[in-house]
Amino acid sequence: PGAEGIDIKNIDTLCEMSFPPCMQKIHHRLRTEHHLKHSARRQYALFLKGIGVAMEDTIAFWRQEFGKKMNPDKFDKEHGYLIRHTYGAAGKRFNYRPMDCLKVISQSVSPGECHGCPFRHDNQQVLKKMLQQNGLSVIGVQEVLDSAKNNHYQVACGKYFQLKHDSDSTVITHPNLYFDMSRDILKG
Ligand code: SF4
Repeated sequence: PGAEGIDIKNIDTLCEMSFPPCMQKIHHRLRTEHHLKHSARRQYALFLKGIGVAMEDTIAFWRQEFGKKMNPDKFDKEHGYLIRHTYGAAGKRFNYRPMDCLKVISQSVSPGECHGCPFRHDNQQVLKKMLQQNGLSVIGVQEVLDSAKNNHYQVACGKYFQLKHDSDSTVITHPNLYFDMSRDILKG
């Protein structure tokens, strides 16, 4: 387990239960396509660091996925560095902070990329499918879609959180805070 007790073996379960949609989307892409483009790698690595996944675990997990499509040596050279850099263990050794929602939302996302905030960057059809897959009711799905359509992305995320966790209403400001709040509720 990492410093805060996140065991990489549980990452898929944690993803389904407690990742915000922005990180769930990147995780699914990594699992299904065994590759991530630069901005997604950065957004996701910072998040994993923030939730307490140890650097060596993140490297091993990504190497396993990327390695299905690329030579592991090439992986270490090209992507291992980014992870070490993100964790502050290479390059300028700067302690980069995980991105907050405003930063995630304000990124530009080109077709084929999977970073950013689904409430802002996905169209209503894609968003609807994601909400359904996460178990929201028909009414719940519509409420969240309406907020997203009105450009209230963090309100939409708060509603989604509330419906998914059967909790009080909330507005989400940070993907890592989303995760921590979710763990607090689910751990009881
Ligand atoms: Fe992620 Fe924030 Fe968007 Fe929610 S509102 S999906 S936490 S960026």
